[in-house]
Amino acid sequence: MPFILFPVSRVVVIGGGAAGFFGAITCAEHGVSDVLILEKGPTVLEKVRISGGGRCNVTHACFEPTDLLEGYPRGRTSLLGPFYHWQASQTMEWFESRGVSLKSEQDGRMFPVTDDSQTVIDCLTGAARELGIHCRTRCGVNKVGVGGVDDFRVETTSGEQLKASAILVATGGIRSGAARKPLTDLGHAVEPPVPSLFTFQIKDERLEDLQGVSVANSSVRTGKLAAEGPILITHRGLSGPGILKLSALGARELAKRNYQFGIRVDWTGGRGADAFAAMIMKERRGHGARKVMTRSPLPQFPRRLWERLAT
Ligand SMILES: Cc1cc2nc3c(=O)[nH]c(=O)nc-3n(C[C@H](O)[C@H](O)[C@H](O)COP(=O)(O)OP(=O)(O)OC[C@H]3O[C@@H](n4cnc5c(N)ncnc54)[C@H](O)[C@@H]3O)c2cc1C
Repeated sequence: MPFILFPVSRVVVIGGGAAGFFGAITCAEHGVSDVLILEKGPTVLEKVRISGGGRCNVTHACFEPTDLLEGYPRGRTSLLGPFYHWQASQTMEWFESRGVSLKSEQDGRMFPVTDDSQTVIDCLTGAARELGIHCRTRCGVNKVGVGGVDDFRVETTSGEQLKASAILVATGGIRSGAARKPLTDLGHAVEPPVPSLFTFQIKDERLEDLQGVSVANSSVRTGKLAAEGPILITHRGLSGPGILKLSALGARELAKRNYQFGIRVDWTGGRGADAFAAMIMKERRGHGARKVMTRSPLPQFPRRLWERLAT
């Protein structure tokens, strides 16, 4: 489906990463005759090379857009539409149709059957080459200007001035000024990035020396933010999917709180205080002589953690 609404003769793609290559290939396949990728680094697709531990975790075997949303704690409403347009099935088809077979692992992650990210790099660079896309490395973009609807000027780090009828900014993470500049030059406001997917540093004697202990059925809450998932005790505090999910969900809110906040962890698998108290009472009735701290009423609950919590 063509998505560029006016005839575009030359697209300059800023950034030679996965997004830049995919965008460039898509433009060329939709009739743009002159596509040029400008990459400031010495090589293209450098992040793809190291991705997935050198194997490149291309996509995830989850083919239902609403299920896929579960993996994205923020932006649910804005992602649903795009996921109906493009998701894991389309990614698979895209690579399979270019000779790259993917396999899925038990946890759903999908890799090229070669287990080598170079396969993905070769696929992207090969497709670009076949379509006549030009690519320049060590060629950063310093400045972008706009003269009219389809009249963009791009100034490279060597001072060269290039013209384009459309620009695709694919500079990756926008933490660095160079990556943000093409957008701000064009007058776009850029939301300052904040960390996401981080672990929590916590000083609490109940967690001391328990690193490695994890509880599968947990949930964590701070204020109105809440997330469920396994929680892992580390030597610095807490980690695991439940914590990472909360950090992503609350990325902006937690930054506003300067990362100083209290949390409540429910280790009971969502049973609630009353049901849990009833479990303890039952335990007491059944094993009156036994100390509460010697055995958790929760099935498969780590003994050492229970001893700390029940003390
Ligand atoms: C260690 C690691 C492992 C990962 N593993 C996976 C994985 O297995 N699966 C997965 O899906 N994702 C993985 N990711 C994330 C994934 O690599 C990135 O999301 C993806 O590469 C982003 O692609 P991009 O094209 O948006 O940005 P990038 O790959 O960052 O590309 C942007 C490019 O733009 C260039 N650039 C920036 N500013 C300018 C400028 N002014 N002028 C010209 N060029 C410029 C940069 O040099 C860069 O090459 C991993 C990331 C890391 C760090």
